[in-house]
Amino acid sequence: FFIVLEGGEGAGKTTQIGAIATWLEESGWLAKLRSFDINPPLLLTREPGGTPLGQGLRQLLLHSDLEIDPMAELLLYAADRAQHVATSIRPQLQRGGIVLCDRYTASTVAYQGYGRGLDLQIIQQINRIATGGLAADLVLWLDLPVRVGLARTQQRGTADRLEQNAVAFHERVRQGFMALAQVGGDRWQRIEADQSLNQVSKAIQDCLGVRLH
Ligand code: C5P
Ligand code: MG
Repeated sequence: FFIVLEGGEGAGKTTQIGAIATWLEESGWLAKLRSFDINPPLLLTREPGGTPLGQGLRQLLLHSDLEIDPMAELLLYAADRAQHVATSIRPQLQRGGIVLCDRYTASTVAYQGYGRGLDLQIIQQINRIATGGLAADLVLWLDLPVRVGLARTQQRGTADRLEQNAVAFHERVRQGFMALAQVGGDRWQRIEADQSLNQVSKAIQDCLGVRLH
């Protein structure tokens, strides 16, 4: 089962992924998979940066002073994803395990497509190539107003380079997630993220409780 968390800056994805992992353990899901010899039962991972190659790419993309052309950026995210799917996500799913991933193809549509304005059809094509067609079973979109999210990242000092104050950019990113959610059917679940950590966790658990069986 392939679960992806998506969302803009400061939505709380990383925190909630930890909470989901704890919940999966406490509710007995991971023990059940272990009893079927699925080890590890859960792969907790993220994009960019879910593999050794990806960590190098993440460093270049997010923490270097290099000027990166938008198309080059798109392809670097795609390279990160291709490696991630091939060496990590797909093998874990094939052995019957759960994958819990912080960002995936929707982030590329939202950031490189809606945010930077790259052609959406090209992005979908590149996403298909990078993933070999592997889609998430469930996308949990942690949604909150842009200003609330940016204020959170500034408070904790994790605002990333370039876009940290560009409210308009992040409004477009949010529109991108919204557009995907509208056509995502029951694979997409919007989670109201502008509430307490516990309330967000509860909303996610309610959703997962229905999906996992
Ligand atoms: O999820 P996390 O906070 O680690 O994301 C790091 C940054 O990567 C985001 O703030 C976003 O600006 C950037 N990003 C991006 N395009 C993607 C994925 C992430 O610009 N496809
Ligand atoms: Mg994060």
